[in-house]
Amino acid sequence: MKPFDYVRAEDHAAAQSGRIIAGGTNLLDLMKHQIETPEKLVDITRLDMTEIEEAENSVRIGTLVTNSDLAAHPVIRRDYEMLSRALLAGASGQLRNKASTGGNLLQRTRCPYFYDTTQACNKRNPGSGCPAKDGVNRILAILGTSESCIATHPSDMAVAMRALDARVEVEGTQGETKLLTLDELYLLPGDTPEKETVLEDGDLIVAVNLPEKPKGRQVYRKVRDRSSYAFALVSVAASLEMDGDTIGETRLAFGGLGPRPWRDSAVEDVLVGEKPSDALFDKAADVLLADAKGSGDNDFKIPLTRRVLKAVLGDLTGVTQQ
Ligand SMILES: Cc1cc2nc3c(=O)[nH]c(=O)nc-3n(C[C@H](O)[C@H](O)[C@H](O)COP(=O)(O)OP(=O)(O)OC[C@H]3O[C@@H](n4cnc5c(N)ncnc54)[C@H](O)[C@@H]3O)c2cc1C
Ligand code: SF4
Repeated sequence: MKPFDYVRAEDHAAAQSGRIIAGGTNLLDLMKHQIETPEKLVDITRLDMTEIEEAENSVRIGTLVTNSDLAAHPVIRRDYEMLSRALLAGASGQLRNKASTGGNLLQRTRCPYFYDTTQACNKRNPGSGCPAKDGVNRILAILGTSESCIATHPSDMAVAMRALDARVEVEGTQGETKLLTLDELYLLPGDTPEKETVLEDGDLIVAVNLPEKPKGRQVYRKVRDRSSYAFALVSVAASLEMDGDTIGETRLAFGGLGPRPWRDSAVEDVLVGEKPSDALFDKAADVLLADAKGSGDNDFKIPLTRRVLKAVLGDLTGVTQQ
């Protein structure tokens, strides 16, 4: 690890004066590998951003709320069940006790080449190439990729937040506040995979806002190589309301498929107002996967995503698979 300065922030301005460290569960690993080499670390854990505040039809989650506390909060468990379940599907108990809400959103990809500094990687070393495209890419993306990078965003929490229409509250260095949806926060790789979000130096995530709870039943389903302590191959955060015998409000977001939590309103549009059936679920999967592209090892994600989506829709509507 390279030498660095360390300070404990007493206020927001101090937090914006260097590289933020919250739980440290991702940043410290990256520093040990010398993938990230900040000159000054600013510890924000003493700042007052640890509350979960309820208002009418909304919840504001301070950035320092730990993944464990968020998953266990009674309002989250009652009204935003998919979020609680997504959090509990992530990492391990010890990690969730340290991992913060803001840090979870900004954790970096788990592409094996990104962590192996003996290899090329456009995200770590722009312009050096992407060995993952023709290499080991089992856990990598099938949607939203570019010639430069096929990495996935690894967060389970962010997938549920995408389905819940969460907005990330960011304070800029002039004290201005921006409210960003997750689609606005995360960038697709294009030619610049090293630039993952729209955040600028000194931007501080202060909270995440959840609007009114979605209608109907909620689920988070995660498929992974081991039953715990593993990142998603494919995950789905979903809510669905039945309106008589047709499908009402529906939200679907996916993990393990793209460089950001993936949501495609066209998939939801296919379902709403229709009677649930195996054929309808296939049509939704066709829309979701129309542009999907495997890179070899991860080709299996295309049929797997179809099966997982159909199983989730079957569970939420009571339609048995054929
Ligand atoms: C072995 C292992 C298994 C894991 N498994 C999973 C899993 O299955 N699913 C999953 O979702 N995650 C998993 N994780 C990831 C874990 O959830 C993240 O490491 C954690 O959420 C990051 O939070 P943190 O507070 O520790 O962030 P830190 O490591 O402190 O910070 C991460 C990044 O966020 C920035 N940052 C933090 N807070 C702010 C803020 N308020 N404003 C601006 N920038 C900020 C930091 O500068 C840094 O760049 C795993 C991690 C490990 C080590
Ligand atoms: S997929 Fe992205 S992170 Fe992985 S090697 Fe290629 S450029 Fe690097």
